[in-house]
Amino acid sequence: MDERYSRQVLFPGIGKEGQAKICNKHVLIIGAGALGSGNAEILTRAGVGKITVVDRDYVEASNLQRQQLYTEADVAERLPKAAAAERRLREINSDVEVRSIIGDATPEILEELIQDVDVMMDATDNFETRMAMNDVSQKYNVPWIYGACVGSYGMSFSIIPGRTPCLNCLLRTIPLQGMTCDTGGIISPVVQMVIAHQTSETLKMLVEDWDAVRTSFVSFDLWRNQYTSLKMSKAKYAGCLSCGEERTYPYLDHENRTKTTVLCGRDTVQIRPSISGEISLEKLAGQLSTLGYSVKGNPYLISVELGEERMVIFQDGRALIHGTKDLTHAKAVYQRIMG
Ligand SMILES: [Zn+2]
Repeated sequence: MDERYSRQVLFPGIGKEGQAKICNKHVLIIGAGALGSGNAEILTRAGVGKITVVDRDYVEASNLQRQQLYTEADVAERLPKAAAAERRLREINSDVEVRSIIGDATPEILEELIQDVDVMMDATDNFETRMAMNDVSQKYNVPWIYGACVGSYGMSFSIIPGRTPCLNCLLRTIPLQGMTCDTGGIISPVVQMVIAHQTSETLKMLVEDWDAVRTSFVSFDLWRNQYTSLKMSKAKYAGCLSCGEERTYPYLDHENRTKTTVLCGRDTVQIRPSISGEISLEKLAGQLSTLGYSVKGNPYLISVELGEERMVIFQDGRALIHGTKDLTHAKAVYQRIMG
């Protein structure tokens, strides 16, 4: 450990004591796309004791421009991002205990995973998950770091239960929902800038230097050369349902969550079965091949060609239907293939 982390230990904000803390902490990263890859790599190199990564997608060619953990080989294999990330992170630092989960970060999963976590990081692409993370953070008293980017614009905010406003409070002053769905493209440096903010905040929290944690909402546009830091001390809302006195954690309502979703900025619908459980991909692939479908796969998923559309089925029965945004149609396709 001495040599490996020497430069970080020399930094006064961390030191030997801070490094020992970092080596004993657990960070949960929700999403393994652009922000998730970068956050996970930096924290793995920094020697965080345990890192858990959750992601529901697999690696595609359009990811390589900015999702720094992945390679052309991962694209060729259609590896789930969580599995590809775990493999790469272990190569980078074998001292770190890396756990990857292929699936949706549902409220249930989040409540299960949060138990021994020190800091949670936002690397998702959708608002539903962020709001669930926000409620879980408040309920279990775990800080989390919001991060988002689109085009050349990025933003970040650190949320510490009991000290800062929560994301639900912030929505009263900043219209964040509209900015999270990435349809307008993105440049990689803005991803790196958000990662720099998120991981700096995480390191401060891991070494328990709470006074160093930034309390403002930071946003920047790297193309237009704008940098804004908004004070948020007055944004805490007493009536907030996520962090106020009469809190109900509305986004953890398991009944309320959607099972069929159009994925952000893509011609893809995700379908999650109401009863989840492992399915035999090998058996399903065999049956579909017998019926004349073209099926390819790896140990984690199978991909079925359906003319203009393509369906990818994961072990937990979840499916992505590419080539459509029509929920009813996608459900019909799901029923036809899954029986
Ligand atoms: Zn709140």
